Amino acid sequence: MSDSFSSMLQHKLMQARQSSQWRTLQDTTHEGVYAIQDGVRYLSFCSNDYLGIAATIRSQGGLATGAGASRLVSGNHPLYRQVETRLAQLKHTDSALLFGSGYFANIGTIPALMGKPDLIIMDKASHACMIDGVRLSGAAWKRFAHNDVAHLEQLLSAYRHTFRHCLVLTETVFSMHGTLAPLEDIYALCERYDAWLMTDDAHGFGVLTQDNPAHIQLGTLSKAIGCYGGYVCGSNDLIDTLVNYASPLIFSTGLPEMLLQAIIDALHLMTAEPQRADRVMQHARRLSAALRLPEPESPIIPLIIGDNETTLAAQSALKQQGLLVSAIRPPTVAPGTARLRISLSAAHTDDHITQLIKALQDMTESLSCLCKPFNS
Ligand SMILES: *Cc1c(COP(=O)(O)O)cnc(C)c1O
Repeated sequence: MSDSFSSMLQHKLMQARQSSQWRTLQDTTHEGVYAIQDGVRYLSFCSNDYLGIAATIRSQGGLATGAGASRLVSGNHPLYRQVETRLAQLKHTDSALLFGSGYFANIGTIPALMGKPDLIIMDKASHACMIDGVRLSGAAWKRFAHNDVAHLEQLLSAYRHTFRHCLVLTETVFSMHGTLAPLEDIYALCERYDAWLMTDDAHGFGVLTQDNPAHIQLGTLSKAIGCYGGYVCGSNDLIDTLVNYASPLIFSTGLPEMLLQAIIDALHLMTAEPQRADRVMQHARRLSAALRLPEPESPIIPLIIGDNETTLAAQSALKQQGLLVSAIRPPTVAPGTARLRISLSAAHTDDHITQLIKALQDMTESLSCLCKPFNS
């Protein structure tokens, strides 16, 4: 890990300790109006369960209750530790931290680490929640052309030296393009220019495993994992820093225990049944080959159409055949690159894919501009 990154984290941790603002997460379970910490039963006045509804559901044996407060106040159910330990194992990092969602993880992590004197450089195709995180941080920011390592280097060499710290943001698998980021090349540049790398693995986790050297590895449990919640994986100091500085963790209620259990079950299914990931990629390869598209890098297949009207017409044509495919238009994607975004699943059968291929082939005949591969 880069020296400047660990010293920045240590500095922040020291500041929190010195001002008596040090926060740590404490395992807490609830029984009615009591909270249990370290085996001791306390009468709790910490929860925001004003109507006692969560207490009632719990006393009836239900798991489906809300956490009642922030994880730091009384909402840190022990299942959190299980999920976080598992995530850190899966990502080969020291530690992991769950957030309410992937969006929260982004808008919490970026401002916790970066501020006004700093520079953030991000891939132009990065997800809106990264942009929101960057804006909240107050740091200066620039964008490089999608997956264009040479452009990233230009920006680093032109601007890096005038800022205190520099963070580079990219996705592992791009949500609207289905492309993979050249992580090794980007990381090498980060090392050369003393910048830190943060990746958002929202669309990769569970499906594609790449070696990821990033200092900060963020993702969501709402996509391939089929649940809800976001996470950040990295060093112990990174996770401690986020516990102390990331607003969505400090000021928003913890996830309900029912959901934590569902995440544990889903992560188990993901590793116990690796054929799911194989199967969705088989579908992607078959669809791409049938449409004469380049070899797919992920289960996201964009059909770039160009103008909005034709894209919407293509979407309706498919809908008439009983197929729901999203039409993605600016500002979600660059002007002139409206597209159909086909998102495949291991739950699709071979027949389902045949049906989609047939419908798309029929449509291609009527829409001549369809099926250009994405390249800008
Ligand atoms: C969907 C998505 C998110 C948001 O994750 P949620 O858990 O749905 O809030 C973040 N980043 C990327 C790249 C995404 O595609």
